[in-house]
Amino acid sequence: MLAAARAIEPQIVEDRRRIHSHPELAYEEEQTSSLVCIRLEELGIPFRSGLAKTGVVATIQGDVGSGRCLLLRADMDALPINERSGVRFASQIPGRMHACGHDAHTAMLLGAARLLLDHRSDFAGTVKLMFQPAEEGAGGAPRMIEAGALTDPPVDAAFALHVRPDLAAGKVSCSAGPQLAGADVFTITIRGRGGHAAEPHTTIDAVVVGAQVVLALQTLVAREVEPTASAVLTLGSFNAGERFNVIADTAVIKGTIRTFDNGLFLHLEQRMREVATGVASALQATAHVDLLGRCPPLVNDASMSEHIAASARSVLGADSVVAVKAEMWAEDFAFVLEKIPGAMLWLGVKSADWPRPKAIHTAEFDLDESALAIGSSAMAGVALDYLMRE
Ligand SMILES: [Zn+2]
Ligand SMILES: [Zn+2]
Repeated sequence: MLAAARAIEPQIVEDRRRIHSHPELAYEEEQTSSLVCIRLEELGIPFRSGLAKTGVVATIQGDVGSGRCLLLRADMDALPINERSGVRFASQIPGRMHACGHDAHTAMLLGAARLLLDHRSDFAGTVKLMFQPAEEGAGGAPRMIEAGALTDPPVDAAFALHVRPDLAAGKVSCSAGPQLAGADVFTITIRGRGGHAAEPHTTIDAVVVGAQVVLALQTLVAREVEPTASAVLTLGSFNAGERFNVIADTAVIKGTIRTFDNGLFLHLEQRMREVATGVASALQATAHVDLLGRCPPLVNDASMSEHIAASARSVLGADSVVAVKAEMWAEDFAFVLEKIPGAMLWLGVKSADWPRPKAIHTAEFDLDESALAIGSSAMAGVALDYLMRE
C-alpha cells in the first residue's frame, strides 16, 4: 500500500500545497470544499456537499458485497495566524494559516480515496469519507453528526489521523484509552464602576478586581486537583480599560479548562464560577461566567486502536509504530468517538533536518511532506483491513 501511495505522492503534495496557500477559517472553507468535490467528481466517487455549511461526505463501496461501514475523517479549517514558515507555497492570505496540518489531513484523505478505489475488489461494505469544517473549537464535528454524517449507511467504526510535530516523519502512534483532553472555553465578564483615575474611591476598578480573579483561579489546579490527575485552567486573554487616566468599568477574561476526567471537569467548572463570582462580589463588582460548550476527551477504543496499530505495522514496518504520551490538546473527533468505536492515529511529521519540532498552532509550523504518502497509506490500509476482516 505504501508503494502505491508513493506513486500518487505528487498529487497528494499538490493538493496539500494548494489548500495550504489558501487557508480558510471555520465554516468559510468554500475553496477547500470545492477542491474536495472536484477531486471526488474526477474519481467518480458519489458525495453529498453542504453538510454543516462546507462539509462533504462521500462513500466508496467495496465490490465484494454488503458489509460494515468505516468512517475516515479529515478536517479542513485553518487558524487566524500570520504564517512565517518560509515555505514557498505559504499562505497567500494575511492572518490565515494552516498551522494545525488540516490541509495535509484533507489531501491525505483524498489520497486514501484514490488508493481505495484501486482496491474495491478486495473489500465488502462501505468506506465513508468525512471532510468536516470548523475543527478548531467551532463545533464542526457535532454539526456534521447532526447533519447525518454517521447515518445512511450507519457507521460501525471511525478512524482519523492527526499530524504530530514532535514525532519523526516515518513514525506513527496509536494507543488505547484517553489521548487528548476534554476542553471548554469560558469568558468571565467583570463589571465594576468606571471613573476618573484621580478619584478611585468613587469607582469599582475592574482591572484590580480582574487581577484578583486571575490570581485566585491559579489555586484551583494547584490546590484542588489531586496531584496525580491532569488538569489545565489557562487564562489566555485579559482585556480591560482604554486610557491611563480612566478607571475601567469592565474587564473580560477568556480561558480554557481541560481534563481527561468528566467529573473533574465539572468540579473545575463549578469552582471557576464560584471563585470568579465570589472574588468579584467581595470587591463590590459582579462577574458573569459564560461557557462555550464542552468538547469531550478523545478516547481511543481498545480493539480499534489495536487494529489500527497492527495495520500500520504491516504497512509501514514494525519499528514505525511507537508510543507517545497523552496531551492536553483537544480534538472534536472526540464527538464521533463518543458515539462510534474508533481511534485517532498520530502521524509523525518532523523532518530529520529540523533540530526542534515546528509546533502546531505557531506561525513557524511546517511538516515533512514525505509523511503524506504514509498517512494516505495508513488510512487506506486501516480501511481495507477492517472491511476485509471476518
Ligand atoms: Zn489545532
Ligand atoms: Zn488539528
